[in-house]
Amino acid sequence: MKISWKTALLWLLPVAVIGFFVWQGMLGPAVMDSGTNAATARMTYGRFLEYLDSGQARRVDLYNGGRTAIVDVIDPEVANRYQRIRVELPSAGPDLISRLRTAHVDFDIHPSRNTGAIWGLLGNLVFPLLLVGGLVFLFRRSNNMTGGPGQAMSFGKSRARFQMEAKTGVKFDDVAGIEEAKEELQEVVTFLKKPERFTAVGARIPKGVLLVGPPGTGKTLLAKAIAGEAGVPFFSISGSEFVEMFVGVGASRVRDLFKKAKENAPCIIFIDEIDAVGRQRGAGIGGGNDEREQTLNQLLTEMDGFEGNTGIIIIAATNRPDVLDSALLRPGRFDRQITVDIPDIKGRLEVLNVHARNKKLAEDVSLEAIARRTPGFSGADLANLLNEAAILTARRRKEAITLSEIDAAVDRVVAGMEGTPLVDSKSKRLIAYHEIGHAIVGTLLKHHDPVQKVTLVPRGQARGLTWFMPPDDQALISRAQLLARITGALGGRAAEEEVFGRDEVTTGAGNDLQQVTGMARQMVTRFGMSDLGPLSLEGQMGEVFLGRDLVSRSEYSNQIASRVDVQVRQIVDHCYAEARKIMRDNREVIDRLVDLLVEKETIDGEEFRQIVSEYAVVPQKEGYLAAV
Ligand code: ADP
Ligand code: ZN
Repeated sequence: MKISWKTALLWLLPVAVIGFFVWQGMLGPAVMDSGTNAATARMTYGRFLEYLDSGQARRVDLYNGGRTAIVDVIDPEVANRYQRIRVELPSAGPDLISRLRTAHVDFDIHPSRNTGAIWGLLGNLVFPLLLVGGLVFLFRRSNNMTGGPGQAMSFGKSRARFQMEAKTGVKFDDVAGIEEAKEELQEVVTFLKKPERFTAVGARIPKGVLLVGPPGTGKTLLAKAIAGEAGVPFFSISGSEFVEMFVGVGASRVRDLFKKAKENAPCIIFIDEIDAVGRQRGAGIGGGNDEREQTLNQLLTEMDGFEGNTGIIIIAATNRPDVLDSALLRPGRFDRQITVDIPDIKGRLEVLNVHARNKKLAEDVSLEAIARRTPGFSGADLANLLNEAAILTARRRKEAITLSEIDAAVDRVVAGMEGTPLVDSKSKRLIAYHEIGHAIVGTLLKHHDPVQKVTLVPRGQARGLTWFMPPDDQALISRAQLLARITGALGGRAAEEEVFGRDEVTTGAGNDLQQVTGMARQMVTRFGMSDLGPLSLEGQMGEVFLGRDLVSRSEYSNQIASRVDVQVRQIVDHCYAEARKIMRDNREVIDRLVDLLVEKETIDGEEFRQIVSEYAVVPQKEGYLAAV
């Protein structure tokens, strides 16, 4: 939530004022009474006057400027005993004093006790103090929000939260698997090191480079490597940190950042997640966002404000170049775009090599085999994988990382933490049937990826898992393969229903069904694989929140939409029927496999196929690299 200054003040003031009165109301009288608390009994003013007149009052002490009296009375009815009684007086006017004198009562007037005065004073001061303190706190918070440990430095009036590293210590050697990007950026290093070479021939040095790619592919690392290679300072900030609670803070942060950078030129400014601030202006749900637009405008102004040869190069990273404001991409701003993609198998091997440098691997571990097993892993995933394996090795007190730790680490990175298996029970058997359902479809359909292992050991959100071997890298996926995948994903639910009946099926298939629907819909709307023909009916989905594309989403009419739904349903129904049939035809082996799984908790792919082949024909599958 963003609150502007005005809103914050408007909101705080009434709270403070009300608070002040509540404070006064609660504490005021209570503390002023503190000198008179000793007396508990009370009497009315009228009674007091009677006592005075009858001579029963012996002594009167006046407090609170004469508004409270403690009276010592002798009560003849209670055996002439002294009693201290408290009276609230309308005022301690001179007439009361004269009455006391004529009654010959011993009296004294006590000034407000010190404690009372101090408390009163404090009561008056505390709320303004709290108010001021609160505002100061809010100011500081808004300007210094990340400020966690390990912050390099913070600068400037607004205490901007950008970081500066004088030396990143990262070299191009540390970045692997993204060769094209590295080559393009090599030039930037030369700009920074020998600007004369370019300015001498009148070349304009680029100001901004946009790195485009999914998270964890090494964009930050790459930017640091440029700074490291060129030996210049590295300033970094994340786009999301520009966008703040209070309007104007982001813009002042941008100013500070550039000011500091200019003082330290040549240098690199790295802006992570630039889409957080650089989104198309005036777009998105709920209209524009003042704060973001101000910040963006400031950023554009700053970029225009320095000459190309001041030696500042701004590198920004994003996963969503399509939502960026077009003004950001104009010449003189981020006019170079470099794509940093998820590495292919060769790239993965190189990344693994980089991160294995400082780790001890057992002889039997082949980085190539790991690279093969990890399609879709980003550089960060791979680094994480090796680190997990190393931690596990240390925990197991081994000398070097072996295959078994690598295996466990891959599982962990892909599917999350391992949990404890269930004890044998109906629900464990149901999960076993569900997983065997996936696995048997995967094994019997020619176009499905082969099973790597089935396990009942829970991981992350999953209560059991069936792992399939990844196909060769970058292979295109055929219609038959997609249908096989849908059938396989439905295998879990099909087995539940076949074995336990319609009433017993569980929520465990929720995730599967989501995937099934997604795949089937894409077959129809994106890949032209249904009876609707080769039409692409949808661009990228899920952009409602992200700027521009509100309008372009509905590219087809309601009529077509309902035909899409029919097609999707046909695909899913067809696949589900097939999965059910596989369950019926193979019930015997399924029961046997379930018993084995409940007993052993994990069955690996080889053994699985071996057992199935005793009952049915297992098709040969090609194009799969053996598991590690
Ligand atoms: P991004 O900025 O693209 O989200 P990072 O640069 O922050 O990704 O990557 C996080 C970590 O992952 C890096 O510090 C590094 O250890 C590892 N990593 C990511 N990509 C690579 C790569 N291409 N080569 C080597 N290590 C990488
Ligand atoms: Zn499932």
